[in-house]
Amino acid sequence: MDAKDLLRRYLEQRRELGESELVLDGLHVEDVMRLLGAAGKSGAPSQAPRSIRETAPSGAHDWRTSLRDAGVTVDPPMKNDAPVSRRMAFPDVASQASTPAVEIPHDTAFKKGIIVTANEAELIPGAIEKLRSLDEIAEAVRKCTRCDLYKTATKAVPGEGDPKAELVCVGEAPGAREDETGRPFVGQAGQLLTKILAAIDLTREQVFICNVLKHRPPGNRNPLPEEVEACSPYLIRQLELINPKVIVAFGTFAAQTLLQTKTPLGQLRGLVHRYHGIPLIVTYHPAALLRNPAWKRPTWEDVKLARRILDSAPRS
Ligand code: URA
Repeated sequence: MDAKDLLRRYLEQRRELGESELVLDGLHVEDVMRLLGAAGKSGAPSQAPRSIRETAPSGAHDWRTSLRDAGVTVDPPMKNDAPVSRRMAFPDVASQASTPAVEIPHDTAFKKGIIVTANEAELIPGAIEKLRSLDEIAEAVRKCTRCDLYKTATKAVPGEGDPKAELVCVGEAPGAREDETGRPFVGQAGQLLTKILAAIDLTREQVFICNVLKHRPPGNRNPLPEEVEACSPYLIRQLELINPKVIVAFGTFAAQTLLQTKTPLGQLRGLVHRYHGIPLIVTYHPAALLRNPAWKRPTWEDVKLARRILDSAPRS
């Protein structure tokens, strides 16, 4: 298979994952597909993933070289082109905040996603429905025995932040540091979350940060369906009490749980879903960004969307 076919396959795969940009440079996938003379979306069959980097060692053979190999005329690097690891770090992209935001008069301009409307009261057992404040929820979570996770966890992690927050961040479950401290997102992924928030001019104290699961699964294993069923009423009640302007679901697990779907994260990004009327944005989990820094750019796009909603939407 030649470089052109490999590149086309790679781009088709990224597009199927719901991406609309080449992460390194902001070139739109559709544009590159046109440059390559590819057929439309339904064109070539999807194949096993293979990244451009697999075809070439980094540095020696960057995306421009790959495109040139594929027969595409490529402009020389711009002055500010830098390796992805440097350009995509959140402190750097934060400086792009000065770019004027697209003005959106009201949310009909956003691409709509899944609408979750199930009656919240039916999802919350009576005892949890009766909890009247975030403090009462935290207290109940600390005493909770609704699943077995409390047996292996050190501390419960109910969540923290402004009870009147306009933005709520929802992650998957506490990790080791969170389990030790009883606070959400305080490990490495949490430090990145703090930077992500700073990139849209928010501090941790201004938002509310929590997880679907309030106790750590042993060894950070994936949450079990019965654990989610037992624990998610706390999250539902937290969201009901806070009633934020926007919810950001970090990672597949939070997104799929809140939206009650199995749709892959790539297809949930870039849309404004509705969770009981509240706009909900889906983005990558900070831990995934630590493993794959190329996802920082799309994450930046996602949180910018959340920021635009904050700036334009009244509370629902
Ligand atoms: N990952 C999560 O999903 N939540 C945390 O609190 C920490 C890491």
